[in-house]
Amino acid sequence: MNGHYAIAIDGPSGAGKSSLARDCAAAFGFLYVDTGAIYRTVGLAAYRRDLDRRDESAVAALLPELDIRMSYNAEGEQRMFLNGEDVSEAIRAPEISICASDVSALPAVRAFLLEMQRRMAWENSVIMDGRDIGTVVLPEAELKIFLTASAEARAERRVKQLEEKGLTCDYEEVLRDIRYRDEQDSHRAAAPLKAAEDAVLVDTTAFDRNESFALLCSLIRERLGLEAQA
Ligand code: C5P
Repeated sequence: MNGHYAIAIDGPSGAGKSSLARDCAAAFGFLYVDTGAIYRTVGLAAYRRDLDRRDESAVAALLPELDIRMSYNAEGEQRMFLNGEDVSEAIRAPEISICASDVSALPAVRAFLLEMQRRMAWENSVIMDGRDIGTVVLPEAELKIFLTASAEARAERRVKQLEEKGLTCDYEEVLRDIRYRDEQDSHRAAAPLKAAEDAVLVDTTAFDRNESFALLCSLIRERLGLEAQA
């Protein structure tokens, strides 16, 4: 792929994709691309306009007005900009998760964001995480991983993560959100969440973070013949 490597990590929300992908990218010197953040940015824009987020023509009409950019700060952290405003924190609000899932079911939104994602992989060696990276965005990726865990384990991890950030949340509510998104992301007609045929399935229900990280690193070493730099 243009002298660059591409690793696709797909799976349901809360499976640990982002933090594992970020750590693997840092270890192997790849750029980490969190595509969920891009869908969240569209979700936030639709939310702020108070649009019916399942109305494809309403959301499609909004798209040409959106200037979505992403950049990396000195710490290598991905930041999202919507029409010049840094929305990296705003897109993490729980209500925006649902908005992102709603707008991401619309083919117009997926088509709008496809080019941006492919360009990142064309210009860099990437570890890209999302829902359809191995199946649609980067079908030629050298390594595809489908990362999953039970809904309960994912809800527990999400609650812990939010609590670490000082946010209070209700486990049942988080579990409900995860199930809502699982259902919607897997059953939509446009690019549903599913493992690519050649993806390696990794179920982390019984693994802690370090075990999951070690497993992913060994897959990268074996498949790409690379050694971790750190
Ligand atoms: O990964 P994250 O939970 O931040 O993604 C938010 C939502 O964006 C997901 O629930 C999913 O509906 C959507 N998404 C997508 N395709 C991607 C990444 C995210 O549909 N590649």
